[in-house]
Amino acid sequence: MADDPKIYQDGVYEMLWDCKFCGTEKLLGKTHKFCPSCGATQDPEWRYFPSDAEKVAVKDHVFVGADKTCPACNTLLAGNVEFCTRCGAPQTDAAQAKLLESRTRAESETFEREDRDARQVAEARGLNTPAPTPKRGLPWWGYALIVLVVAGIGFGLYAAFAKREVVGTVESFAWERTISIDRFSVVPSRSLCDAMPLDAYSVSRSYEQVGSRSVPDGETCNVRQVDQGDGTFRQERVCTTRYREEPVYDYVCSYSVNRWVPGRTAVANGDKSSAIVWPNPNLSCGGTGVTLGCEREAARREAYTLNLRSGEERYACDVPFAMWDGARIEQAFNFQVGVVFNNPDCGTIKPAGG
Ligand SMILES: [Zn+2]
Ligand SMILES: [Zn+2]
Repeated sequence: MADDPKIYQDGVYEMLWDCKFCGTEKLLGKTHKFCPSCGATQDPEWRYFPSDAEKVAVKDHVFVGADKTCPACNTLLAGNVEFCTRCGAPQTDAAQAKLLESRTRAESETFEREDRDARQVAEARGLNTPAPTPKRGLPWWGYALIVLVVAGIGFGLYAAFAKREVVGTVESFAWERTISIDRFSVVPSRSLCDAMPLDAYSVSRSYEQVGSRSVPDGETCNVRQVDQGDGTFRQERVCTTRYREEPVYDYVCSYSVNRWVPGRTAVANGDKSSAIVWPNPNLSCGGTGVTLGCEREAARREAYTLNLRSGEERYACDVPFAMWDGARIEQAFNFQVGVVFNNPDCGTIKPAGG
């Protein structure tokens, strides 16, 4: 179950920052816009997330956007000022503090202080050496697989559609007529008792597990910290609903019903020397009153086959009765066969020269 996660706000806290001029550490991002030791203005690039133990909450925080650094005098300004409070230079969003990447932990874990040194070293490296362009696309075997699949589809289409013309002569004739016969039989069955047919008999019922369903069972949460760019970060709990499987019970019935089910097939066949007739179905109790063991006709089918020869190859084609009836031994027919499997396409057959 992929529900959207629910997000609960969990307070706003001070980022920490280090003064890059005098080395004072763990200054408060919101409270200390200037270094209390040397007076230098805060550099947002020197901010970092505190450990859980160092977290300082910001009461009644009003967020006005990420801080800006004045391009003229480097003073750190609130996100909503339009002119520098120190030198009066107009402000644009271009100098807005870059946001640190959010970080997430499981609820049972704790956050360590973010390693600002390591991050800055990594960023400096990233600036000097262009990031390696990620390899796009597939590994070599991916392309090989595509080639194989395309070749396979191509071969399949070729096998299905590539045809050649053949001339065959009639070697012999065959006909076959079949009658499918249903038999009224006892069918053992099993279903939910609610769904049992009305004519069921010999019923035994039991109460048992018939499936399961997912029921909500609390939430699984992670803790996420999001840099807001104004010297604070907000902490939120990101929760997804947990589910457990619960068995579902119902009454299940085992029973018998009497139904028509496919039984035997009656067949008659021959060639042109024998009369074309339907087989005698010899139905059991074929009259009125249906009882177990009685039979009825289900479906009739008939097929008229030309057995053809072309060189050393033999083909059999079912054709309409009129064509079969009018054909002579040694008469030539044109038809197509598959190039790959040599299968006749009997829909294309027609007398040669006609
Ligand atoms: Zn300082
Ligand atoms: Zn300024």
